[in-house]
Amino acid sequence: MTAVASARQILTRLHEVMASRTHAQAKLNQVVDIIGEALDSEVCSIYLLREGMLELFATRGLNQAAVHVTRLGVGEGLTGTIAQNIETLNLDEAATHPEFQYKSETGEEKFHSFAGVPIVRRERAIGVLTVQHVEPRKYAEVEIEALQTVAMVLAELIHNAGLVDAEALGQRSEAHSGQEVIEGLRLVKGLALGKAVFHQPRVHIEQTVAEDVEAERERVYLAFDRMREQIDNMAKQAEFGTGGEHEQVLETYKMFAYDEGWSRRINEAIDSGLTAEAAIERVQQRTRMRMREIQDPLLQDRMHDLEDLANRLIRIVSGQLETAAQKGLSQDSVLVAKNLGPAELLEYDKRRLKGVVLEEGSLTAHVVIVARAMGVPVIGRARNVRGKVREGDEMLVDGDAGKVTLRPSSSVLSAFEARFARNKEKQAEYAKLRDVEPFTRDGERISVMMNAGLRDDVGMLAMTGADGIGLYRTEFQFLVSSALPQRERQARLYRDVLEAAKGKPVVFRTVDIGGDKTLPYISSETAKEDENPAMGWRALRLALEREGLMKAQARALLEGAAGRELNVMFPMVAEPWEFDAAKEVFDQQLAHLKKRKHQLPSAINYGVMLEVPSLAETLDLLLPRLSFISIGTNDLTQFLFAADRANPMLAERYDWVSPSILRFLRRVVQNCVGHPVKLGVCGEMGGRRLEALALLGLGIRRLSITPAAVGPIKELIRKVDTREIGQAMSGWLASPPADMRAALQAWAEERGIEVE
Ligand code: PEP
Ligand code: MG
Repeated sequence: MTAVASARQILTRLHEVMASRTHAQAKLNQVVDIIGEALDSEVCSIYLLREGMLELFATRGLNQAAVHVTRLGVGEGLTGTIAQNIETLNLDEAATHPEFQYKSETGEEKFHSFAGVPIVRRERAIGVLTVQHVEPRKYAEVEIEALQTVAMVLAELIHNAGLVDAEALGQRSEAHSGQEVIEGLRLVKGLALGKAVFHQPRVHIEQTVAEDVEAERERVYLAFDRMREQIDNMAKQAEFGTGGEHEQVLETYKMFAYDEGWSRRINEAIDSGLTAEAAIERVQQRTRMRMREIQDPLLQDRMHDLEDLANRLIRIVSGQLETAAQKGLSQDSVLVAKNLGPAELLEYDKRRLKGVVLEEGSLTAHVVIVARAMGVPVIGRARNVRGKVREGDEMLVDGDAGKVTLRPSSSVLSAFEARFARNKEKQAEYAKLRDVEPFTRDGERISVMMNAGLRDDVGMLAMTGADGIGLYRTEFQFLVSSALPQRERQARLYRDVLEAAKGKPVVFRTVDIGGDKTLPYISSETAKEDENPAMGWRALRLALEREGLMKAQARALLEGAAGRELNVMFPMVAEPWEFDAAKEVFDQQLAHLKKRKHQLPSAINYGVMLEVPSLAETLDLLLPRLSFISIGTNDLTQFLFAADRANPMLAERYDWVSPSILRFLRRVVQNCVGHPVKLGVCGEMGGRRLEALALLGLGIRRLSITPAAVGPIKELIRKVDTREIGQAMSGWLASPPADMRAALQAWAEERGIEVE
């Protein structure tokens, strides 16, 4: 008999039993008879989980007196092992298995062969289905497959009949219990606690036995068509990103989506009488089991991709297509996903989204840039997190240490709460500084602005009391759109931002895209092949050549700032002519608007980011034409040290407070003396206390930092005497101490200035 035929025969008869109006116990009694007969087995038994124990609920072939008497712990004996590990056993001689245990009341001693499969619901074993035989022979694979299919259907029957109580469903299997820590990549710092939510929620299959086989077949065909269409479209979508890893994943997806073997096996499962959803899941179970035996990490990665597709197929077939964002978050949540697009992340309710854990992800991934702007901690490269956590499990995200704790123990939780409470107290103290102007002890007014990039970020201006927005990363709007934002849309955003800023200055940086931030709608022959994308065709280099892009943005900024002051900053300027060329684009647009008598900005100030070291060498030539300079220490550092800022292996190798950077910055400060140019720093460095102290020592008086740092930095400023730190810094730079950081720390400590 084939697996399909035997499963089908059993399923047809089970269907009748399930539909009959008899008592649940009577149904189970019939079920063991049907299976035993079909598999020609003397014994067939069903054990169900009750009060934490596996209880014999029905049997054919064992002593009837043992029913509801024989009970095994999870993990005890062969049956307990099957439930604990959620695995199938098939033995010709049961007694040879190390876990074998004999229960005398059952009278099972005469049966040699033994096979058992777990009965699983919502990823938990709720029971075990076993068959036994006098003859010492292994069950054939087709028989095991039939058993597994039947177990799926039984899970439905058992659930509908209410045979296992809620507690049994609450029982955790070995794979999903207890605390577990996953190490990952620190992508966005911060602490978060919440319930695990899958970006693409798992579908729970409610009906396993088909009413109409042909109708189920049709449903699967249609779902396959839709899924293939989606995969083909994915490559064109912005959210998926492009380049290396993504393309590989996409190729694998395609391979599976068009794999004849996969669709054939699903079809066979439908032939055996399962619904479309159950058939897909059944095939997936089988593949999972096979894969478990092969310990090849490469294949296991591919297995994740196949799991992904199978879930997608089940969602399509069942019509449950919503992401967790579309369903809405009902409580504090930690989002779990393989990967995510920035637009997808933005769909979540910010108040409830506490953290994000990705199986992929890198520092420069768009989604990470957006999460950072949203202030949501992110851990990347959390291997197989989706296999280890279940929806609703508690998750602790420690973005500072780069680890995720699943189902944290109470001691870990209380340590976390203490840290969290400390953070909160601090936040309350910072909030008090909101309306306090940041004067140093010697009366210098330091300008503390914030970095932004999303429409909603502007709200942080009022909350933090920052002096303005010192860096508005306009490319965020481009990153979260799947098509090039039209000029009108850009202008609307700029107008809204200025309006929300209520007169506080906003510095708009023109787009810094290209290189690793390639957008699919800006085609480029070279960008994809850039070996060093950070040093490649990006930012102003790209914008000056894609003239249409630059013109549209220039016009949008001029229109958006009508009647208000406009500050424009160009990124990645390496030589003075690049500034001139960029300004020329603005001048032309301005002339155009003037001619048409449009309302113009009340004033326009132009500036550059100093992030390519070469510019420092020609700064004197450019200075007279600039209103302001903002030092982008993120990029500057990577170029100065030739150390990729996105490479985690180098993340902690070079120190921001090293003599080379500080001397470099000092020289820039000195070059600007006597010019009416506003000089500031807008890299991450300025948002850290010790680094900010060093910057004050160098003579920097303007900072633009991440919103969360505004309070802490204001607090620092109020404790510093700039003459004093200036003097100390001069000494250190003339003859640097062995450890500059330690010297600064000691200096701060002596004065009771907290710098950590
Ligand atoms: C920088 O490079 O320091 C900077 C502020 O810009 P971004 O981080 O956007 O490159
Ligand atoms: Mg930069």
